[in-house]
Amino acid sequence: MLKIAIQAKGRLNEQSLELLADAGIRVGDSKRKLITRAKGFDLEVLYLRDDDIPQAVAMGVADIGIVGQNEVAEKSEDVREVMGLGFGACRISLALPKEEEYTDIEWFQNKRVATSYPAILGRFFQEKGIYAHIHRIEGSVEIAPSIGMADAIFDIVSSGATLISNGLKEVESVFESEAVLIANPKLSEEKLAELDELTFRFESIIESEGMKYVLMNLPVSQIDAAVALLPGMRSPTVLPLAQEGWCSIHSVISEDVLWPTIRQLKKIGAEGILVLALENMIR
Ligand code: ATP
Ligand code: ZN
Repeated sequence: MLKIAIQAKGRLNEQSLELLADAGIRVGDSKRKLITRAKGFDLEVLYLRDDDIPQAVAMGVADIGIVGQNEVAEKSEDVREVMGLGFGACRISLALPKEEEYTDIEWFQNKRVATSYPAILGRFFQEKGIYAHIHRIEGSVEIAPSIGMADAIFDIVSSGATLISNGLKEVESVFESEAVLIANPKLSEEKLAELDELTFRFESIIESEGMKYVLMNLPVSQIDAAVALLPGMRSPTVLPLAQEGWCSIHSVISEDVLWPTIRQLKKIGAEGILVLALENMIR
């Protein structure tokens, strides 16, 4: 049986549980427990702080885990990144008080930079030939410049709103991150087979994200025109209707092009267009 570590609470907790639920894995109300047994898949769920997940997986306390790439890169534990999970996107950036004049990376020579990611920043500065004082602080990194603790910060940015409200500006984006599935590099054959089943389910869920299932009625004479507009997995499905001269067309299309495509379909005579949510997509 596989043991998966997920964040106990915080930004990745809900979406990790949602991904498991979409994969048919139900995890009971567990907020107060450290470990629970899932239903629908032979899996044990271990709730940890995200910082501890890479080490737990490297040590084999958990076989696999869901955590941000930022934590994986910071901790440098021996874990294998199995797949990206399409949520928890953010970047780690260097930011300075907005009134500072910034020209290039040389600005950082001999400066004091506060961060919770000293390892990632240390590697970046070393690569760029920058010598700076890196102050490791946990939490509220963004206030360090205003209280005189640092000249700049290196912190997670997603929208940039927190930076602006602290009078800071982003000057270098250093590391891009999303939530990933990580695994212990020495899993048994049996556990690898279970992991395979899990990643198969995750992939079909991620694949279906942003996709809609569309069906509509159409005059048979317009099939070619509709096929040109609709991609589908191989090509759209065409089914006859009881009424002569009409058919029903089914297809899977991306949300990004949904509305313009519907407009064009209506123009060529489509009627009774239904747009349905898509849960899984197996290519
Ligand atoms: P823990 O108590 O588990 O240590 P934390 O406070 O370190 O939690 P969160 O703020 O919950 O962590 O963030 C967890 C992860 O979510 C981050 O490591 C990062 O990968 C991702 N993330 C995505 N967007 C953001 C954001 N705007 N700020 C912080 N983290 C983000
Ligand atoms: Zn953390």
